[in-house]
Amino acid sequence: MTSLQLLLWITAAIVLQLAIYLAMGFWRHWQTYETLRTTVSEGGLPVKPHADPPEPKAVPAAWSGWRYFQVTHKVVENATGDICSFHLAPQDGQPLPAFLPGQYLTFQLDIPLPDGSTQAITRCYSLSDGPRANSYRVSIKRAPTPPHSTHPPGRSSNFFHDHVAVGSLLQVRAPAGHFHIDRSDAPVVLLGGGIGVTPMLSMVNWCFAEQPGREVWLFYGARFEQELMALSHLEALAAMHPNFHLHVCFSDTDPNTTLTNPYQRHGRIDIDLLRRLLPLKPYHFYLCGPTPMLASLVPALEDWGVPDARIHFEAFGPASVKRKSAALATPAPAPEGDTATATVSFAKSGQQVAWQPGSGNLLDFAEAHGIAVNSGCRSGSCGGCQTKIRTGEVRYREAPDFDPEPGSCLLCVSTPKSHLTLEL
Ligand SMILES: Cc1cc2nc3c(=O)[nH]c(=O)nc-3n(C[C@H](O)[C@H](O)[C@H](O)COP(=O)(O)OP(=O)(O)OC[C@H]3O[C@@H](n4cnc5c(N)ncnc54)[C@H](O)[C@@H]3O)c2cc1C
Repeated sequence: MTSLQLLLWITAAIVLQLAIYLAMGFWRHWQTYETLRTTVSEGGLPVKPHADPPEPKAVPAAWSGWRYFQVTHKVVENATGDICSFHLAPQDGQPLPAFLPGQYLTFQLDIPLPDGSTQAITRCYSLSDGPRANSYRVSIKRAPTPPHSTHPPGRSSNFFHDHVAVGSLLQVRAPAGHFHIDRSDAPVVLLGGGIGVTPMLSMVNWCFAEQPGREVWLFYGARFEQELMALSHLEALAAMHPNFHLHVCFSDTDPNTTLTNPYQRHGRIDIDLLRRLLPLKPYHFYLCGPTPMLASLVPALEDWGVPDARIHFEAFGPASVKRKSAALATPAPAPEGDTATATVSFAKSGQQVAWQPGSGNLLDFAEAHGIAVNSGCRSGSCGGCQTKIRTGEVRYREAPDFDPEPGSCLLCVSTPKSHLTLEL
């Protein structure tokens, strides 16, 4: 054997050893990856035990009914000028209860009518900052007239923008809502579309005040940069906390233009983007935004294998986003004694009408029979249509966000469970 042949043999042996070593390493990693993937898709990854202080106490309905708040600051939040924040302090000067980041306030406004009278309307607005001892903040987007329509622009939001000023007094219900961030140290992905970013801001601000080490991803979708609110605040947080990952998506920009920052991207927030950017971890996902965004992302997350219990979402109106699991489930048979049709009596107006399954919720049903009902969100959040039940029972498809008082129901999300007499 020549020395060249010997050298070749030695080189081949080294290459072979290296290849075996690499193959073994790859195999070990592949097995870990597969185990992790299976566990995640079965929803079995343990969320780390809470090492933090106990859950903040959101004193349930800290006050009942309406409390007066004064506007202390009014701040235009974006370049297009259609989002305005209102900072509110209680008129009675008493401390404010804690709330859970993601919850909302309910307002009752007396909107002046052309004939000199006023109309009371009820609307919900998410708290858009972390809890503070003596003030709340909400951020409100003007609802314009929809394109090609002659309908008037949104009443509450435009009233806030045009008529509510520093010093104005507003009637406010206590913070409420079941859509809020949990207090564990599980990593979270927050997805806010348009004005749906408001509860996310509350969550982000609370997290970095209370849990600065928590892994937080924020995907903020808007049509273009001028629409964004709180951008410099979010950029400052991202610069300060390497565990805060900010991504801003523009749905209405020219894809050929170069965006100014690396965290900005063209296009909507979609599942491909999430799959590309998110490492494989047991994230909790919190979503709030327009119905099409929720309707596409919620099932896509489910298809990706995110367990139901880790997907939390809220729509700012009567959205019909359904979880796949709920859609697939066979409807439960009506409990014994439930009627398919029911007689609904409206006590004050003296009407008795037959309700059938196709008649819809009790709010639509009452309005269809000419009964005037106060209502707001039409999604079980604001309590505007809360009505006393004199006799009978109602059924909710899902537990409403607003907890009705005992003996009352929320017409907008309920149907009769038996013959009913309502105080209307
Ligand atoms: C839990 C929750 C939290 C929320 N948080 C926020 C928040 O943080 N920030 C925020 O800005 N919003 C938020 N909202 C939405 C908010 O409550 C209002 O729905 C929103 O401000 C629009 O109310 P409005 O009175 O201005 O508009 P509305 O008067 O209710 O009108 C809504 C739209 O319908 C159009 N319209 C008027 N009449 C008709 C008609 N006859 N037919 C068809 N269309 C018509 C209007 O032009 C307008 O575009 C939240 C909602 C919920 C339920």
